[in-house]
Amino acid sequence: MSIDTVQEKITVPAVVRRQLESARMDYCAICGKCNSVCPSYREFLMEMHSPRGRLALIHAYVRGELKATEKVVEAISHCLGCGACTSACPAGIRPADAFIWIRSVPDFRGIRTQFERFLLKCVARDQRLMRIATGPLRLYQRMGLQALVRRSQVLRFLPFHLAAHESLLPAYQGPPFLGSIEERTASVAVPRGRVLYFVGCAMNLLFPRVCQATYHLLLKLGYEVVTPQDVWCCGAPHLHEGELELAHQLVRKNCERLLRDETIAIVTNCASCVAMLKSYPAFFEDNSPEAKAAQTIALRTRDLGEFVSEVGLEPERFRSYNGLRITYDDPCELRHGQKIEESPRRLLQCLPGIQYVELPEADWCCGGAGAYAIKHQDMSKRILEHKMTQLRSLRVDAVITANPGCLLQLERGVREAGLPLRVLHLSELLNENYAEQAENAAVHITS
Ligand code: SF4
Ligand code: SF4
Repeated sequence: MSIDTVQEKITVPAVVRRQLESARMDYCAICGKCNSVCPSYREFLMEMHSPRGRLALIHAYVRGELKATEKVVEAISHCLGCGACTSACPAGIRPADAFIWIRSVPDFRGIRTQFERFLLKCVARDQRLMRIATGPLRLYQRMGLQALVRRSQVLRFLPFHLAAHESLLPAYQGPPFLGSIEERTASVAVPRGRVLYFVGCAMNLLFPRVCQATYHLLLKLGYEVVTPQDVWCCGAPHLHEGELELAHQLVRKNCERLLRDETIAIVTNCASCVAMLKSYPAFFEDNSPEAKAAQTIALRTRDLGEFVSEVGLEPERFRSYNGLRITYDDPCELRHGQKIEESPRRLLQCLPGIQYVELPEADWCCGGAGAYAIKHQDMSKRILEHKMTQLRSLRVDAVITANPGCLLQLERGVREAGLPLRVLHLSELLNENYAEQAENAAVHITS
């Protein structure tokens, strides 16, 4: 029996059925190569918490041979979605895709509180609402309460794992980025082209400093930058939490919004947004009118580092980094999801005055993985400890990455381990020492 014959009695949305088919579960040779690279299996050491084991569970479920019991759902929920198993599989099977998409089958949605449902359905989709909802958090950071609360450790005595949630919150970096700049800007009289800067929700709210760096870097590269203020969440959190309908709505809205401007590229500094935008065609039947728009978006989308590598930097415009010792930690969505591995390293190694050292296990997940760090706090921390051990051994001044979830998790790890190093986004490091073109520095046009 093949997956084409997914049992009638199991409710599998058509889009999920297509993804399960393309995951090629039928061809698993049970060799176990994927198990050797799985961060959750390294901690659990149980077959049901390995990619091979999870794949067997899903395969049996779609064939109608196994019910989605609490234990089965939990095994899938403990997958980080990092994609290391997909990279390792010699048979071309895509276990990670199967583990993400199966969550949209009602049996696998797991248990969610009314509050979590409210967040996903009503708040975590609209940038304006998210800005309002997170206002009290910014107040908490700005008034110095964050430092006070952390020093006193008072949250350890409160319920709902508040201390663990709070430990993920970064230091205050300023108001949300969207709203602070013109929608259309260029710093040169004759731009090289027009790019759309897609500002993801987490970056906008938590890392406005990174957004500023990305934005200015794109301008320094000589592009006209369109930054739509009314974009929607890319839909990745909803897909990963099994809210397919909501994810679909957001994909549709963004397909309409992101193509309103004629641009040569859609650039984003969030690896999760990149992966999601590139996967938009998966939401539609081939050859449907919507599929065409989704394909255009997928083709135009670039991770910031990918874009910079393609268009090139001028080495003579860099100030020296004066011996700064750095390393790079791969966001899983880039390394495993899109096989973007060499280009960020090449960029970093070419910077004047940089000492680059390779991080052992840079391709292993840091344990952030979106909501994983909140839902599975103990496991997330155990996975993070491996990363901190590797970082400690390198004695670097900074670790570079390219995703808000990784920035949050690494910052927490570095802070709690007391490591004297900075956690930076690639765009921050590049923008910091890259000068504007002298002849264009005076020109600044907006519309
Ligand atoms: S590596 Fe591929 S073929 Fe081997 S067990 Fe894992 S999924 Fe199956
Ligand atoms: S996606 Fe990552 S965590 Fe999930 S099974 Fe594969 S290797 Fe393990």
